Amino acid sequence: MTLYADLHRHLGGALHPRIIYKFLQRRDHQVLSYFPDYDGFYNWFTRPCRTLEEFVKIHSLVEELQSLEHLPYFCLRLCRGAYTFENLGYLELRYNPFFRTDHKQSNDKRVGQMNEIVEVISANLRPSEYPITVKQILCFDRRLPTELNEAILKVAQDNIGPVVGVDLAGPEINTEKTEDWIRLMAKARASGLKTTCHLGETSIDNVDPRYFPTLDRIGHGIHIPLSRPEMLKELAKRQITLEVCPTSYRQTGVLKDFAQLKSVFARCKEAGVAIAICTDNPGRNPAPCTLPGEYERLIDHDVIDFHQLKELQAEAFRSAFGFVGAARV
Ligand SMILES: [Zn+2]
Repeated sequence: MTLYADLHRHLGGALHPRIIYKFLQRRDHQVLSYFPDYDGFYNWFTRPCRTLEEFVKIHSLVEELQSLEHLPYFCLRLCRGAYTFENLGYLELRYNPFFRTDHKQSNDKRVGQMNEIVEVISANLRPSEYPITVKQILCFDRRLPTELNEAILKVAQDNIGPVVGVDLAGPEINTEKTEDWIRLMAKARASGLKTTCHLGETSIDNVDPRYFPTLDRIGHGIHIPLSRPEMLKELAKRQITLEVCPTSYRQTGVLKDFAQLKSVFARCKEAGVAIAICTDNPGRNPAPCTLPGEYERLIDHDVIDFHQLKELQAEAFRSAFGFVGAARV
C-alpha cells in the first residue's frame, strides 16, 4: 500500500461532517434545532464561503466542541479515517490549544489548561489498530494578544517531541503586529521547533519578506507565485516549502477554478521552490474530502501530471517536520 503524508490539516476541520453530526446528536446539542436532518447540516458545513472570515466562523464552532473531555473521541476517529480512507502514513495536525480550553474560565486558568490539552491529544493520536504517525503543530492566532501567543509558544516548547512546530493562523488581519509574530517565529526556531505560517492565502497583502528568514514552510503562499513571482528566488534559497491545499481555495472563495493553480505549480517548479499538496480542512470540503482526492483533482484539471505527482508526494515526506526515514511513495 502506498502511504502518503499530509502536512497541513487543522484539527477543527479534519473530521468528516457525519462524525460531528453524530457527536451533536449524542449530546443533544442546541445547534441541531437548525439542522433536524444530516443533509441540512452537511450542506451548511461544507458549503463554499465568500470569504476566509466567514469560513473561520464555522471552524470556531467545532473548536468549542473539541474540549478536553471530548478530544479522545475526535482524535481516534480522525486517525482511523486518515489511515483507512486516505492511506496516510504521516500526518501533521495543527490546532490552537487555547481555543480548546474551557471558555467559561479566566484567561489565566485557560493558559494553565493548555498543557493538558496537548497531553490528551498526544496520548490519543497513537491508536494501536491504525499505525499512522501523527505529529502536532501548535497554532498562534492573529486575533489573540501577544502574551497569549507567547503562552502557546511555551506549551509548544514544553512538548517538543509530539509537537514538532508552530504556525500562525486565523483571518489575515492585524498586519501591524507583523514584527511581534516574526519575533515569535524566530524564538520558536531557536528553541528547536520548526515553523510555518499562513501567508498569502487570500492576497499578497500580508506577505512580508521579513518572515522568510524565520520560516521552514509557508501555509498556502499561493499569491507569491501568482502576484510576486520575483520573491520565489528567496524562498528557493531558504528552502521554504509551500503547503498548497487546492480545494480550500474554492471553499474560502480565493480561487474560482483549479486551473488557476497551474501557474502556481509551474512557477514554483521553475524557481526550485518545493510544494507539498495538503488538505487544510478536508471535513469542510464536499466529499470525497481526502488527500488522494486532491491529487486526483490536480491531475484532472491538468495542473500537474502523474510524474510530477510522484515528486510532490515524495516532497511531502522531505518537507515534514517530524518524519524520520525515507519517503515510502
Ligand atoms: Zn490552514
